[in-house]
Amino acid sequence: MLHRRRKAKFLKKYREVAEREIKEEVNVEGLLQGPRKPLDRPLNPSDLTFIYRPFFGVNEAEHRLIPYFRAYLLASNSVGTRESINTLTYNSGLSLGLYLVERGVVKDLLNLAGLWEVNRLGLMEVVRGGREGFTIRVYEGLLCSGLPNLKRTVCGFVAGVIAGVLKGLHNAVFTCREVRCWGTGYSFCEFNARLLAPVKYQQNLEKPVGKTVNLSSTRGV
Ligand SMILES: [Zn+2]
Repeated sequence: MLHRRRKAKFLKKYREVAEREIKEEVNVEGLLQGPRKPLDRPLNPSDLTFIYRPFFGVNEAEHRLIPYFRAYLLASNSVGTRESINTLTYNSGLSLGLYLVERGVVKDLLNLAGLWEVNRLGLMEVVRGGREGFTIRVYEGLLCSGLPNLKRTVCGFVAGVIAGVLKGLHNAVFTCREVRCWGTGYSFCEFNARLLAPVKYQQNLEKPVGKTVNLSSTRGV
């Protein structure tokens, strides 16, 4: 009970932060940017070691591993093109998402959010859902929470997982794009998942499998 109340308090605060930051955002040559200004110097190690996770806290393993994974993720850009790295991480996530549904681990989006939380990957919630797709936010995302504005979103893997899960749940093709991220100056990540291929006549996307996706409640997460 205490945990639920604490989580509800954090979610409320994060929703307010998100709404405020969206009001302050700017569109620079097609890239949405939040209120934190882009980094005007080369990235240094302390940028990678700062991890903002007031809800989850940061355990010893995360302290050691997160900077390593961040360095890996960002350095990958100098090896391939940004597009190729994004495709690689997105497709890896896509496979995982599909696998989670096929193995019965994830039965709806609430399940996915629960899995994210239990594994300390972030606080995930669906903020909008309908026939065309879903808007999903992640607060305190494991890899990006605390990064400076690098003028790029960095959570392509998560976008892939969401697309894979939706594909598995609805037997339809979804695309998912991270539109807001710590890496573009926000204090949260936001993903837009859109339906690409049509689904069966009258299929209700708001009820993925059995349970209703309750857009306002955190019940069962
Ligand atoms: Zn992100």
